[in-house]
Amino acid sequence: IVEVTDLHKSFGSNHVLQGLNATIKQGEVVCVIGPSGSGKSTFLRCINLLEEPTSGSIKVGGDEVTDPDCDIDAIRRNMGMVFQQFNLFPHLSVLGNCTMAQMTVLKRSKAEAEAKARENLEKVGLSEKADAYPAQLSGGQQQRVAIARALSMDPKLMLFDEPTSALDPELVGDVLSVMRRLANDGMTMFVVTHEMAFAREVADRVIFMDGGVIVEEGDPEQVIGDPQEERTKTFLQRVL
Ligand code: ATP
Ligand code: MG
Repeated sequence: IVEVTDLHKSFGSNHVLQGLNATIKQGEVVCVIGPSGSGKSTFLRCINLLEEPTSGSIKVGGDEVTDPDCDIDAIRRNMGMVFQQFNLFPHLSVLGNCTMAQMTVLKRSKAEAEAKARENLEKVGLSEKADAYPAQLSGGQQQRVAIARALSMDPKLMLFDEPTSALDPELVGDVLSVMRRLANDGMTMFVVTHEMAFAREVADRVIFMDGGVIVEEGDPEQVIGDPQEERTKTFLQRVL
């Protein structure tokens, strides 16, 4: 459902993405790994046009997102985004966070939005926190609310950018379990992560990026378990 061809992105003279080619198929979990500054977040942000590509093509569900005539809002509606920072609205309850965009963007009724939100809060194990406020929750719980909020928009694709790297170590597991369950339920997922064990276990495909290019890509057992490229080996030795 996503097809990236020869994607380039520069910030001034900094040529951050140097010709990426990738596809994400329906139901697939693709994990992106690589050193800090290699362009992983920029790559992810180009997919929903939070960053505008300098050149190249990105097709989502057959639509060229870089085409000025393309309805990017309609395309974004099909993508859920979860970032390192949870970005919940502090003045809204958990339920309010999960219903607002459903009502304003999808024009769902309050009852409909709340039913959908409760269904997804249940999925992330936070049914009993519907009336709590973000400040009353742990980081791991806030991140699971952010996932429930994204899921409540019925996305076709979920983009995750290091969803666990701002969390205390003991809170990481709960968020990864939620993501693992989502993957098992067949959600299409594109995940930038430092969690090698998660990538190895859950990903259908792993992309290793370094210096703005895809160095190696394939089955997790191959890329993480038996890397062929020197740069991949060096990276994995540092993080494993
Ligand atoms: P990390 O693992 O630390 O999150 P990353 O692989 O996600 O790293 P990016 O955030 O994509 O890396 O950054 C790649 C390069 O692009 C860096 O050199 C960064 O300074 C630069 N960059 C990213 N966003 C911007 C921006 N908005 N303006 C200018 N430069 C940027
Ligand atoms: Mg990043």
